[in-house]
Amino acid sequence: MGKKFRIAVLSGDGIGPEVMAEALNVLDAVEGRFQVKFERTFANVGGIAIDKEGKALPDRTVEICKASDAILFGSVGGPKWEDLPPDEQPERGALLPLRKIFGLYANLRPAIIFPALTGASSLKEEVIAGGFNILVVRELTGGIYFSQPKGIEGEGRERVGIDTMRYSVPEIERIAHVAFKAAQKRDRRVTSIDKANVLSTSVLWREVVEAIGREYPDVELNHMYVDNGAMQLVRKPKQFDVLLCENMFGDILSDEAAMLTGSLGMLPSASLAEGAFGMYEPSGGSAPDIADQGIANPIAQILSASMMLHYSCNMVEAAEAIDGAVQKVLDKGFRTSDIYQGRTGETQVSTSEMGAAVIAALQEK
Ligand code: NAD
Repeated sequence: MGKKFRIAVLSGDGIGPEVMAEALNVLDAVEGRFQVKFERTFANVGGIAIDKEGKALPDRTVEICKASDAILFGSVGGPKWEDLPPDEQPERGALLPLRKIFGLYANLRPAIIFPALTGASSLKEEVIAGGFNILVVRELTGGIYFSQPKGIEGEGRERVGIDTMRYSVPEIERIAHVAFKAAQKRDRRVTSIDKANVLSTSVLWREVVEAIGREYPDVELNHMYVDNGAMQLVRKPKQFDVLLCENMFGDILSDEAAMLTGSLGMLPSASLAEGAFGMYEPSGGSAPDIADQGIANPIAQILSASMMLHYSCNMVEAAEAIDGAVQKVLDKGFRTSDIYQGRTGETQVSTSEMGAAVIAALQEK
């Protein structure tokens, strides 16, 4: 008897349903190759949920997610819903509540540039020859975005803007564990990002990360100031394996790392709660400019499913099989339009052709 997982499938808007269909086909292929069954329940989220059920995150959708082991999320939003009040819009109305309801405190964003795609990066080919694979682990619920006091006080030119950066030891400990555990399944190196030369939260951050690091003697730990980290990412991205960041530093560095890969349609992300529950989604949005044309790149969604296998299903072998299949397909020259460069050996393919190519590679012995 194999394993069984319950997955809430929230495809959302724009290219969401198109790319989700391919990720689900890949999960079918995983079921065929490994002893596992994914029970899928579909639910509305985002703009389509507003249209059909009156709000971006309907109660029924929340209940389905609560009854699941993981959420596989597409993307939400589009011009049709842009004039709604901000809190009712698809992104704010669905993503923030989902993070809160499920305590999604750890955001994992891989920035991978596959060797076949080094030409898509804004960096010189000699800097990234052979590709790179960085995982940004970002604390998602604390730090300067959420700590109190916060606000604007006073009148006229006497006004002051206040933000507070606060981190407790348990908050730092739990995100550090996520980074070290992730590193154990990768290249076993963690770079902790801080600003310990000026920020007290960073002094505590460094001390606590150091202490947690001693529990993972197989993982090499080093510390880097955030300004240096930003420079090193551009100078020599291949030096990094896992980057451990507090909320704001992670927000900035994960976007910088993603841009270095030059292909938004390739990048997945995971937001994890305590335990094995997580939400998995592409780093990009609903791409309304290319929706319904069958040309969106499904790889970010497929790799999001792979992260789900990795972190919520503990099926590292299956996750690596998907990642390997994607790599093979790229090596063979298959390209959706966003990554097509017209080079010799490249073949331009549709969303479904890319999905089918990944499945064929997954089924190759
Ligand atoms: P976007 O990420 O949707 O698109 C930016 C560019 O990248 C577009 O040119 C798009 O065609 C391209 N792109 C993105 N994913 C792609 C893919 N898989 N294949 C090929 N090309 C791809 O960002 P945007 O245009 O700023 O936002 C569009 C909508 O998405 C907005 O309504 C925004 O609010 C929403 N959005 C949602 C999320 C989310 O659901 N998590 C995240 C970001 C933006």
